[in-house]
Amino acid sequence: MIYYGHQHITEKDIQAVEKVLRSNYLTQGPVIESFEKKVANYCGAKYAVAVTNATSALHIACKAAGLGEGDVLWTSPITFTASANCGRYCGADVDFVDIDDKTYNMSVAELRHKLETAVQKPKVVIPVHLAGQSCDMEAIKALADECDFKIIEDASHATGADYKNTKVGSCCYSDMTVFSFHPVKIVTTGEGGMVLTNNKDLYEKLKLYRSHGITRDDDLMTQGADGPWYYQQIELGFNYRMTDLQAALGCSQMDSLDEFVARRRYLVKRYNEKLKELPLRTPYQDEATNPSWHIYIIRVDFTKVTLSKKEIFARMRDRGIALNLHYIPVHTQPYYQNLGFKKGDFPVSERYYEEAITLPLYYDLTDEQQDQIIQALKDVLQG
Ligand SMILES: *Cc1c(COP(=O)(O)O)cnc(C)c1O
Repeated sequence: MIYYGHQHITEKDIQAVEKVLRSNYLTQGPVIESFEKKVANYCGAKYAVAVTNATSALHIACKAAGLGEGDVLWTSPITFTASANCGRYCGADVDFVDIDDKTYNMSVAELRHKLETAVQKPKVVIPVHLAGQSCDMEAIKALADECDFKIIEDASHATGADYKNTKVGSCCYSDMTVFSFHPVKIVTTGEGGMVLTNNKDLYEKLKLYRSHGITRDDDLMTQGADGPWYYQQIELGFNYRMTDLQAALGCSQMDSLDEFVARRRYLVKRYNEKLKELPLRTPYQDEATNPSWHIYIIRVDFTKVTLSKKEIFARMRDRGIALNLHYIPVHTQPYYQNLGFKKGDFPVSERYYEEAITLPLYYDLTDEQQDQIIQALKDVLQG
C-alpha cells in the first residue's frame, strides 16, 4: 500500500540519536540549543524554542501573544484542528476566515472584510500555509499593523518553503512562526515542534511557558537567589520540552531539508504535467511563493466524474493506493458546532471539502510509484 506520507530516515540520523543515548543528557541538554540555532539560522529568525509538537508550540505562542479569556482568535477552516484548538486552550473564542478558492489559504479579501465588519477584532490571527504554500503574508501583515492583532504563522506544512525573498519561519511578516516535526511533515523528530520569533520578549515568555513557568534568570526573578539551588516559578507554564534524542534527529534531518524539498518540488511538477488532461484541478502556485509541498491536493470536477469521492477512495485502495483528505473544515466538527458554528458558515471551504483529495507525496516516493498512482487515477476517473 502507498500511503500519503512517509518519513525518510538515514543511517546518519540513527547514529545522531545513538550518540545522545550514550551521552549524559537525554533531555534539557546541549543538542536542543543546537537544533534551535540550526532552524533559526536556516530561516533567518533570531530566536527559536523547540517543544513537544506543533500543538504545544501553537499553545505557548498564543499564551505569549497574550491571548486569554474574552479575546478572539481567527484562523482558516481548512487546517488541522490544532490551529483553532490553541485558542480554546487559552480560554479565548475562536472564529474562522474563509479560504481563497485558488490557493486554499486564508483569503485576504475575506479577512479584510471581516475586520471591517466584526463586532470584536481578533487578538491573534493564525494563517495556515496549506500544503507548504505561504499565505499572502505581506497583505496580512499590513492588516495586522492597521488593526492591531498578532500574527502566528502555522507553518506546520512549510518547513523549507520560500515566500518572496525570505524563508518561511523568518518572521519578517509575523510575530511568531510554528513548525511541526511529525513524521509525515517535511522534516521529523518523531514528535516535535518549534516556535520562531524575532522578538526577545516573546522568546523569554515562550521559554517560560515551555518549562513550568520556572526561571533561574536573576533579571526575571522577584528577588535575589536564596542560593545555588534557587529558582522561581513566575508564570503558570507547562512541561512541553523536547528531548535531546529528538533534537539530534532534527539536527540531522535539517541537513537534508533542501534535498527533501527539492524532491517534493520535482514530484509535484511531474504530477502537474501528467494529470493535466484529467477532470480535476492541480494545485495553483502563487508566484510570490515557492512551496515545500507537504501534501499534493487535487480538486475533482464532479460534474465530469460519475463516481462519488467515497468510490474513488475505495477503487484507489483496491489498487494499493491510500488516498487522504486535508482537511475536514474545522467549523463542521461537532466540538465547534457545539460552540455555535453551522454548515454553510464558510461556503468556499465547504465546497473545497466536497472536491479535494490528497495524493501520496513524500521524499521516498519513486517515479515508478508515482506513475502507478497517476495511471490508477486515470483508470478510476475515466473508467
Ligand atoms: C500537523 C499539524 C499540526 C499539529 O502538529 P503536531 O506536531 O502533530 O502537534 C498543526 N497544524 C497543522 C496545519 C498541521 O498540519
